[in-house]
Amino acid sequence: MSLMSQRRGIHLDQSELLCKKGCGFYGNTAWQGLCSKCWREENQREKQKQIQDDWALAERLQREEEEAYASRQQRAPSQPTITPFSKFEERKTKEKSSKVNTVTKFFSPSTKTPPKKDAAPFDTQSSPSPSSSASRHSSVDSDHATQEFIDFLRPLKSGREIFKQCRAFTESMVYKRDTGADELSECVQDFYQNLSERLHTQFKGSSDHVESVMDQVEKYMMTRLYKEVFCPETTDDEKKDLAIQKRIRTLHWVTIEMLCVPVDEEIPEVSDSVVKAITDVIEMDSKRVPKDKLACITRCSKHIFNAIKVSKKEAASADDFLPTLIYIVLKANPPRLQSNIQYITRFCNPSRLMTGEDGYYFTNLCCAVAFIEKLDGQSLNLSSEEFELYMSGQASPHWPQATAASSCSPGSTALSQVHKGLDLLTGLGERQERVIEKARQLESDLIDWTDEVEHKVQSVIERFPAETQNPTATTASETSAASSAIDSDNVENELLPPPLQPQVFAG
Ligand SMILES: [Zn+2]
Repeated sequence: MSLMSQRRGIHLDQSELLCKKGCGFYGNTAWQGLCSKCWREENQREKQKQIQDDWALAERLQREEEEAYASRQQRAPSQPTITPFSKFEERKTKEKSSKVNTVTKFFSPSTKTPPKKDAAPFDTQSSPSPSSSASRHSSVDSDHATQEFIDFLRPLKSGREIFKQCRAFTESMVYKRDTGADELSECVQDFYQNLSERLHTQFKGSSDHVESVMDQVEKYMMTRLYKEVFCPETTDDEKKDLAIQKRIRTLHWVTIEMLCVPVDEEIPEVSDSVVKAITDVIEMDSKRVPKDKLACITRCSKHIFNAIKVSKKEAASADDFLPTLIYIVLKANPPRLQSNIQYITRFCNPSRLMTGEDGYYFTNLCCAVAFIEKLDGQSLNLSSEEFELYMSGQASPHWPQATAASSCSPGSTALSQVHKGLDLLTGLGERQERVIEKARQLESDLIDWTDEVEHKVQSVIERFPAETQNPTATTASETSAASSAIDSDNVENELLPPPLQPQVFAG
């Protein structure tokens, strides 16, 4: 088979990774192929146009209204002056100025409250917002992140100011959790942009310095906001997670040869790198900070490059990389893959996505997911009939009884036995995966159940104070001794654990 030389399947021109505007930054499918910068510019232009249109309309209505009013005045001088149209105008103005306020208020120098010289330089307690859900959710993680952020900012001249702004902004975000994800993302991106522009002025253009502050800002903010903005209910992120997870499961039969992946897992160092790459991409889900998630993708990608290099005994090309990344994603089936990609896209410091190795590998991962979504027979060098048979589970490339039955030699029978065995193992692996999933469900059910028991015991104690707790007080039933031990006490009966679901072990 000369699959390696055909390469008609998965190929991506490197220019396709770049922003469609030709600015040289990496693009992203979530931004219709644009980079973060161009996407925001485009968006703002559209928004600006909308605002202008609104104003034009409002002005026209106002003019018409004034004309009508003037003519009414001529007829009846005592007409009321407030009209729906001027109210509309009023509302528009109010909306506009409040929008401007929210963006600028974090950056206006705090002339109203001059810093108290003797007060602690960083008051971590939020003064104006009582018991916000940020503090309710504040875990060890976010407290740790806060302390780290403060320690980092302490030596900076404007550290205190930066901290105050970031804290105020983060708290304001918690109140917006019902807002759409795109809008939340825009708020955060505006904040990043304004702060980094200000830092550039302050540090006189030292990009490294600005980036290191921005990294800490992202870390502090996103550690605190993670629970509110990761896979929020206002989006269909979760639905997309389940869809890609299912899609990857149905593609379990795809082989390394079909993808033209130049990796030889017989070599111990290679299989070691493959395992590490799989582990890294799975680990992404456990990180909270976008930058840390990106670091997982970058580590995964470097293991992939190593696997290719050792297999080919030469440096890996970009053409080798993407199919191998697809192979790794198919093998790993990373948890909440779409949610993680969306979260990074929405809340990562944009400069990190637009340039550098993190940006490059992230863009490739997005492409890999897009490929997996539309993978077909042709991209795997299969006929569409074969592809359909494998997808439906009616045949397996490891056990091609449908296609190779006629040319059955004793050797191939033995081989097909081996393949059958392998298929069985794959099946068992999947079954095990499902069992583990159900076990997790069971575990959480049990936790719920324990809580329920606690609650019920508590309510029973309240209902039956100590003096009435006499076992003879219960009306004796006619049932056998064994069952009455349970039945005589309704409460105990209620406390039985939920029945085990039989399908858990059915496969
Ligand atoms: Zn661009």
